[in-house]
Amino acid sequence: MGKGFAIILSAPSGTGKTTTCNLLREKLPDLKFAISHTTRTIRNGEKEGVDYFFITQKEFEDKIKNNDFLEWACVHNFYYGTSIQPANTLLKNGCDTLLELDVQGVETLRKTQYQGIYILLLPPSIEEMKARLTKRGTNSEESILRRIETGKREIKKYKMYDYVITNHEVENTVDTILSILQAEKVKVSHYSPPSPDIEELLKDGVD
Ligand code: 5GP
Repeated sequence: MGKGFAIILSAPSGTGKTTTCNLLREKLPDLKFAISHTTRTIRNGEKEGVDYFFITQKEFEDKIKNNDFLEWACVHNFYYGTSIQPANTLLKNGCDTLLELDVQGVETLRKTQYQGIYILLLPPSIEEMKARLTKRGTNSEESILRRIETGKREIKKYKMYDYVITNHEVENTVDTILSILQAEKVKVSHYSPPSPDIEELLKDGVD
């Protein structure tokens, strides 16, 4: 069995990442999600162990000390981190796995040359991003402004990614992500011969 693909998805707050991920789960039920740990409080509608593992700052710091994280970052004043072991086990078992990271997490992974498909989801405009954050109704004015400033800094880092998708409409966005995954799977670098006779031919392959 081949290794699964790691899809690394980033999206500034207010880009529609949660809606996108929910539809992605529906359209691609085999896709696994690497569930992050966070010290932020649980929001309405979120579930422990599904959206995040919600832990205390002390628990988070212990995990850092134990080298449990593939990467971790402080985002909007809270800690977020992806555990190494569950993500690697899923990938080793051939499961395509989605990792949701902010740009700092992506910077860390890129430095270690972590193999994956890096996708950045962007809002159509900063105005639209602000409207989405305000409509959500769970953030204070101060938190909305902080998220917008962080979002602007994140957008400037777009060159770290392999793909950038503007999230005009969630159906199209998800279909684009699915097309990217399909195309990545048939790249020459991932080809494995389907039969012994083709494998034999490839041994004498010419450049
Ligand atoms: P939210 O609190 O809105 O769910 O997420 C805030 C930000 O943290 C988002 O940009 C999200 O992608 C990012 N994030 C979620 N999980 C992780 C993680 O494990 N590591 C890093 N670096 N960022 C994360």
